[in-house]
Amino acid sequence: MSDLNQPISGNDLARFSGPNTFMRLPQAGSLADLDVAVLGIPMDIGTSWRSGTRFGPKQIRAESAMIRPYNMATGAAPFDSLQVADIGDLAINTFSLTDSLRIIAESYDGILAQGVIPVAMGGDHSITLPILRAIARKHGSVALVHVDAHADVNDEMFGERETHGTVFRRAWEEGLIQPDKTYQIGIRGTGYAADDFTEAQGWGFQQFPAHELWHRSLSDLGAEIRRDIGTRPVYVTYDIDSLDPAHAPGTGTPEVGGLSTMQALELIRELRGLAIVGCDLVEVSPPYDPTGNTALTGANLLYELLCVLPGVTYR
Ligand code: MN
Ligand code: MN
Repeated sequence: MSDLNQPISGNDLARFSGPNTFMRLPQAGSLADLDVAVLGIPMDIGTSWRSGTRFGPKQIRAESAMIRPYNMATGAAPFDSLQVADIGDLAINTFSLTDSLRIIAESYDGILAQGVIPVAMGGDHSITLPILRAIARKHGSVALVHVDAHADVNDEMFGERETHGTVFRRAWEEGLIQPDKTYQIGIRGTGYAADDFTEAQGWGFQQFPAHELWHRSLSDLGAEIRRDIGTRPVYVTYDIDSLDPAHAPGTGTPEVGGLSTMQALELIRELRGLAIVGCDLVEVSPPYDPTGNTALTGANLLYELLCVLPGVTYR
């Protein structure tokens, strides 16, 4: 274990200093020998309302400096068995969404070719479509755990087919995900039409609206989903706006009546044992996050996702 990367300890170097990498892990210039690559995709040109997620990775990294290596609730010790590094940000083209999505897909092809599990810090949710394209090239169509206030299944927005609100319709059309193993958790809010969500149910998507989850633990739901997915490869995409704006106000398209931070932890912790092939945490918008709490929460949810990746040791 001594040869594995470790976050810099707050007892060795004050937490407010050191590199701005995820959890102050080493920044790797190469993918060789990594099990997990944490990366930033600083982009907000796919969003439809408030922007700012281009600053997400930088702020998530800053807030992640508080996180210590051991998970005291679950016993997970991700850095005892996995080689994890921050590989920096993808060099997206901030003047072109189309070109940026191409860059993301090609970058992911390279990461996946090395057998590395990618853990992305967004960025708006449009990043997940090119990610899923690369994931499907590598693993075939995958199960999808999608936690979000929104179903993101619009057909077009202003005539554009690739935006943060159209991702999972495209993923379904392109066969990137297994529709009957796609779980949308936390969806809510107002719609353009009464059937905004239900069309996707017809494709096979399993939807769990926020109002059906109010006042209850998500452990049972997480365990149910884990059993339903079984040994299939699964991708986890976590939109921070799945949380109530009271818990995560710093996001582009907030919706009231959302999930709590505790429910998020319960849900993620039940995913332990799944064949997770990648995950992302998207839609953290620091300009709307004056206390840093949204980025802090996002950083911790990424840590919890790290704790349920295949191969993690539990103490
Ligand atoms: Mn979304
Ligand atoms: Mn959303």
